[in-house]
Amino acid sequence: MNGATTDPPSQCHDCPRRCGADRRAGRSGFCRLGDETPIAWAGLHFGEEPPISGTNGSGTIFFAGCNLRCVYCQNHAISTPLSFRPFREVTPEELASEMLRLQDEGAHNINFVSPSHVVFRMARAVETARRRGLTIPVVYNSNGYDSPETLRTIRGLVDIYLPDIKYMDDSIALRFSRAVGYTDMIGAVLAEMLDQVGHLETDERGIAVRGLLVRHLVLPGQVENSRKCLRVVAALSPRTSVSILSQYSPRHRACSFPPLDRPITDREYDAVLEEALDLGLENAFVQELDSRENYLPDFTRENPFDAGAAAARRSFPPRSPTGRGSS
Ligand code: SF4
Repeated sequence: MNGATTDPPSQCHDCPRRCGADRRAGRSGFCRLGDETPIAWAGLHFGEEPPISGTNGSGTIFFAGCNLRCVYCQNHAISTPLSFRPFREVTPEELASEMLRLQDEGAHNINFVSPSHVVFRMARAVETARRRGLTIPVVYNSNGYDSPETLRTIRGLVDIYLPDIKYMDDSIALRFSRAVGYTDMIGAVLAEMLDQVGHLETDERGIAVRGLLVRHLVLPGQVENSRKCLRVVAALSPRTSVSILSQYSPRHRACSFPPLDRPITDREYDAVLEEALDLGLENAFVQELDSRENYLPDFTRENPFDAGAAAARRSFPPRSPTGRGSS
């Protein structure tokens, strides 16, 4: 690790938006967060990819807020400050205690969801938790809109990177997520992550211990974007583990935002899987299309993943992207 305990500069350049907001003084940028670290939910999650959830569950900590504004956000109840449900603000010490509690409950890992806008607070808490006895892997589960420079600063603290690659088309990155420069930086972000942790490694039980697993959500009407995204992953290395998600279902503003106002079709998903196969991406995780509702959290419930958690486990044919198994 390389200085995560040092306070970041007061002008926030933590993510590619580089707002320059003085967050330590309580001012906020695009993510609308000042100096706070809000947690929306923390608990055992059984619906991630099998090497992440395993049998005991992934110790998942959802941060509130986000540095993107996806019109289809499935976590919009917690990602958009204007609609935040009540969340808990924590100090690094309290966040470390939360990690240790999840470890005591048997979690295979600590899975930080949407950490990009609170990355230094997360880093400080991980250092504290390690000093206090945290031994399980730390997962950085982000939307991919990260800064390579910031990631270099937390080198050594993250064991498993679980980023999205959402777009390789700037016009839809802007239109769907208000993301400027996403396609320019995602390759460098993935390369930095791979350099830090290498390819995905699992233990004898098939539980991830280290490495990179890239996620891609197939969007309706955007097969060409998906193909381009997979090409970036394959260019990194065909050995890169990739999770190709079919779970898209219109949510939030997408319900009235064509072409995002419908689920994807079998034909679209199969076309993307074919591309993965053609590219030699053999370490691929796929999903059943008919189980898409099982993957969607409901943050109005005490446990957003109560319903269908077991059914939400993904098919896992690592050597055959087109061979969707049954879960
Ligand atoms: S983390 Fe927030 S304030 Fe900082 S650059 Fe990103 S969006 Fe702006």
